[in-house]
Amino acid sequence: MNIKNIADGTISLAKKIYGDEFIPLHRPIFEGAETIFLNECIDSNFVSSVGKRVIEFEDNISKYTGAKYSVATVNGTCALHVALEIAGVKPNEEVITQSLTFIATCNAIKYTGSSPVFIDVDKDTLGMSPKSLSKFLEKNTIKKNGFLINKKTNKRISACVPMHTFGNPCRIEEIAKICSDWEIPLIEDAAESLGSFYNNKHTGTFGDLGTFSFNGNKIITTGGGGMIVTNNLDFAKKAKHITTTAKVPHPYEFNHDQIGYNYRMPNLNAALGCAQMEKLEEMLFCKKNVAQNWRELYNRLDVEFLEPLENTSANYWLNGIVLGSKKERDKFLKYTNDKGVMTRPIWKLMSNLEMFKDCQNDGLNNSVWLEERVVNIPSSVPDNMIGN
Ligand SMILES: *Cc1c(COP(=O)(O)O)cnc(C)c1O
Repeated sequence: MNIKNIADGTISLAKKIYGDEFIPLHRPIFEGAETIFLNECIDSNFVSSVGKRVIEFEDNISKYTGAKYSVATVNGTCALHVALEIAGVKPNEEVITQSLTFIATCNAIKYTGSSPVFIDVDKDTLGMSPKSLSKFLEKNTIKKNGFLINKKTNKRISACVPMHTFGNPCRIEEIAKICSDWEIPLIEDAAESLGSFYNNKHTGTFGDLGTFSFNGNKIITTGGGGMIVTNNLDFAKKAKHITTTAKVPHPYEFNHDQIGYNYRMPNLNAALGCAQMEKLEEMLFCKKNVAQNWRELYNRLDVEFLEPLENTSANYWLNGIVLGSKKERDKFLKYTNDKGVMTRPIWKLMSNLEMFKDCQNDGLNNSVWLEERVVNIPSSVPDNMIGN
């Protein structure tokens, strides 16, 4: 591979799409009713966690994803934390997830007092490999009194959390089937995949619970924000309850029936979310267009462009390429960033971080390989593309 060639091609296409200023990896777009909705909120005095926009934003997400219920939270990490708790994850248990993910997935697991177990990802989706999951479960677990026990640690495995990396759906149907066969609650970390479908079903709706993030760098943003989705009414009620300090509804009395959290999304953030949702379809259309530009470049340069699976419709949140080696990757990163085009390596494996280095893993062959080679390239919707 001629890395200088690839980097030059990347820089010149990035400038063609985004212009000559510094080009970030991903930036938000506010082309809709954002300021109108925000001002309405301020004028109404309902800026905090009670307000009609929160309910409206939840309804929007339910309608769009096809989930029966949605509960808005202050960010995606706490959405995951609460989802895990509701699924029944307790201290000293284990949660299966992938090592190739953003830190939030593992932090949320730790907040419950449980620990992650790391399963390898598929090379094409960068999401949890159903084959590796099956293999791990068959080799390492045993059923005891209705619980699934890890033979090595003697701990209960109480949930499985796959992640849809960069908005490309993982093989979620196969994973859901395995979790159902082994009776493991399934929680999808769909933080990056609003707008991504697998066999026409929205990501985040295959398991018991799914979670989204609306952080500033995600496909739509509420400043900070998250969402729990589920088809289970009991789970939805619990999610709402424990994200609102577990307050027992009453016109004026304070009564709380368990330890809860102050995780409810404020109305201001939800107002932003409602405005952003109005533009989601247009955003997705533009992002497909951006991805097509990158695809053509890298096909021409004979560089692997990360493609979603055929039976999916992806949101192209972040585009990515696979370079030949760690050395080539580092050269590419330095060259492009020096020229004001932001590119970034994929996350360091969670299993290599100090906090998680003692957690069990299955060898993680693909994860290790990908960690050294995958790079993200600028993927925002360009200003001049939306609204035209
Ligand atoms: C963004 C993200 C989250 C949640 O992030 P918040 O910043 O807390 O909203 C969780 N998991 C993944 C994979 C993410 O990319």
